Amino acid sequence: MASYKHILGIIWLLCCCYLTAAAKDFVVVIDAGHGGHDSGAVGKTAKEKNINLKVALKLGKLIEGKCNDVKVIYTRKTDVFVNLNRRAEIANEAKADLFISVHTNALANNHTARGASTWTLGLARSSANLDVAKRENAVILYEDDYKTRYAGFDPNSSESYIIFEFMQDQFMSQSVHFASMIQQQFKSNSKRVDSGVHQAGFLVLRATSMPSVLVELGFISTPAEEKYLASEEGSSSMANSIFNAFLAYKTEQQAREASVNNTPASKVIADDEEVKPIANVKPTPKASAEKTESTKNIQQKSTASKSEYSKATSTKQPATTKVGGNKTDAPVFKIQFLTASAKLSSNDKRLKGLQPVDYYVENGTYKYTYGASTDYNAVRSKLKSVTTKFKDAFIIAFKNDKKVNVNEAIKEFMRNKK
Ligand SMILES: [Zn+2]
Repeated sequence: MASYKHILGIIWLLCCCYLTAAAKDFVVVIDAGHGGHDSGAVGKTAKEKNINLKVALKLGKLIEGKCNDVKVIYTRKTDVFVNLNRRAEIANEAKADLFISVHTNALANNHTARGASTWTLGLARSSANLDVAKRENAVILYEDDYKTRYAGFDPNSSESYIIFEFMQDQFMSQSVHFASMIQQQFKSNSKRVDSGVHQAGFLVLRATSMPSVLVELGFISTPAEEKYLASEEGSSSMANSIFNAFLAYKTEQQAREASVNNTPASKVIADDEEVKPIANVKPTPKASAEKTESTKNIQQKSTASKSEYSKATSTKQPATTKVGGNKTDAPVFKIQFLTASAKLSSNDKRLKGLQPVDYYVENGTYKYTYGASTDYNAVRSKLKSVTTKFKDAFIIAFKNDKKVNVNEAIKEFMRNKK
């Protein structure tokens, strides 16, 4: 018969278990690429969709089994077709903290290559990289209304990808960091050829509003890799590697979040500057700039709840202000280099002697800018000199004195130039 003390102990233990289980404060979305009538790349015997699903389910099981505080959401758990945009929507609706898309690479025309790689959103720096994005994005052609849904994006046309040059992804540094952790694991834990961290214009990553990566487990078109990935041992090892990276990343993020909530704002920036650039990936200045912007959002929101924080950072592009009226007014480009919680005097040390400067106020924050021109190229060349003093400076755009989406403004500038 249990003593009174024993019963109390059991009640206490049950409470602990309940609290641990209830506190799902990290949400990860695992996206098994392709499915249903979309097989993805096909090998001699295996199909990409099945390899992806197997690894995705094994990864999810590992997380569910070992991380009580994590909620795992799958974009698919069976062999079904899911629209590309729907996959991102699932993650956005869940306000996920991390998005992991699992794919398997292939080369056409009997070309062979080996290696696992991890991708983040960005501009492809080589035609081989562009080809990977083209192949993965081509799945939208399976969707009846893809022309409307993806606003005329043609996955096979290189020109469609120009937009990714101007994409500003505020989660880029986190995504690249996680991607490099996965690669380390593929190499050390799964003993795969490390094909590195790359960037390309993946539609599924573009549509998510959280740190996101796309894993290419290996080449289904290379017989030895097909065999490995199709095996239980291979899929388990790859899932295990992603899990190890996930665990390390989550621990880091949670420690970081805790320190953001407990540290004075100035410390937050200092910490961020210590983040070392990741080897073999060089974020563009424009993209890395958004990192600081997002850090500063955290700084502003340091006392806000997590959901407010998610809301504040829930877009991959700067907030767009709808501008009506005269369409002939060309957008004006400026370089944003600093934000402050209060107005600064013109000789403030933080301006580092940059003159003349201007500012605008957004959400109660003073945002300092340098230069102003309707010529995007002129502002872009000025950016280089500003980044020597403010390494995270980036270009923003205004129309009729209202801040507008810089990517749209650049497109307009390019149209007007023609
Ligand atoms: Zn794929």
